[in-house]
Amino acid sequence: MTEVKAYGAQDKEADLKEMTIERRDTLPTDVKIKITYCGVCHSDIHTVRSDWGPSMYPVVPGHEIVGEVIEVGDEVSKFKKGDLVGVGCLVDSCQECSSCESDLEQFCLNGATWTYNSKDKHTDGHTFGGYSQEVVVDQNFVLTIPKNLDTKAVAPLLCAGITTFSPLHHWGVKEGMKVGVVGLGGLGHMGLKFSHAMGAETVMITTSEGKAEDAKRLGADDVLISKDKDAMKSHKGSFDFILNTVPVSHDINPYLELLAIDGTMCMVGAIEPLPDVHGGNLISGRKSVAGSLIGGIKETQEMLDFCGEHNIVSDIEMIDMSSINEAYERVQNNDVKYRFVIDMESLS
Ligand code: NAP
Ligand code: ZN
Repeated sequence: MTEVKAYGAQDKEADLKEMTIERRDTLPTDVKIKITYCGVCHSDIHTVRSDWGPSMYPVVPGHEIVGEVIEVGDEVSKFKKGDLVGVGCLVDSCQECSSCESDLEQFCLNGATWTYNSKDKHTDGHTFGGYSQEVVVDQNFVLTIPKNLDTKAVAPLLCAGITTFSPLHHWGVKEGMKVGVVGLGGLGHMGLKFSHAMGAETVMITTSEGKAEDAKRLGADDVLISKDKDAMKSHKGSFDFILNTVPVSHDINPYLELLAIDGTMCMVGAIEPLPDVHGGNLISGRKSVAGSLIGGIKETQEMLDFCGEHNIVSDIEMIDMSSINEAYERVQNNDVKYRFVIDMESLS
């Protein structure tokens, strides 16, 4: 075991503070990574605050990890010392079930191991995330980062990137389709970039009028203010696909009304019960409501390669580790453009 510095919360009301955690010794198929940057996802906050049920404390969040390989196990073939690598939301899975065999480790039938707050197969405790100096991960869950991209701005691709790329990819978004992205935050801004790069007519659906200009710069062809009932009416029945990133439970009926015949709205934000869905909004128009969870490792690498080819990264605000509590406040107040990334040097 190696002791490393980390930042975490001791209970659901506590601020995040510096602490020491242990990382396992590098096993034969493990890669040890010195973390250089880590993105701040809204899921980090949900987990720290036990929004999704009781978390295991201390919680050391962080699943948008970029770093440098500093050690590899004897059997590691995919990486070597000095490589620039990434780790997202997954650090292990059974590798044997039908989901894992289909490159859908996030749906591992025996339970995937999440990067933080998951039962750790190698210790008696739970996993700790990227708000730390180092992490040890099996090579099958380590990603290669394209060299042409700004490393700091790559970090959010490991969660916000794959979570938006995967559903757009799965539902075949392409030129000729009209796509809506609901919520311009960390996920939403990546959704805009991907939908635009895939050639679709892309509309930002937002509660914040003040974000309209940014939305256009990020790839939106049009901006729809969801509070404006007339504007919503003018887009009624016109969307082939809507990606909904709103982080809390909300009435989805107004968005379902925007879908065209056979349209789908995919939920990636709210994981809690949603208020009643009006059956007529689905039946009339053969519409679907779906959901999506990050993406498998193979698809995450495809997303990173797509970003390398299309020069896509996240729009970021860099922070020091010590500003994390303030950053959480700002994310909750809808005040980040559009992802915080922690410079992990600030923890050394
Ligand atoms: P974020 O940066 O806080 O962005 C969320 C955006 O949603 C806000 O910028 C805001 O955009 C809009 N919004 C916020 N509160 C709202 C409300 N009450 N009603 C309507 N719109 C609201 O969050 P994020 O990091 O993108 O994460 C979004 C959600 O996805 C979180 O719940 C996170 O846990 C979840 N998540 C899911 C997955 C997955 O695999 N499914 C992966 C990562 C994260 P506007 O100002 O434009 O309205
Ligand atoms: Zn995340």
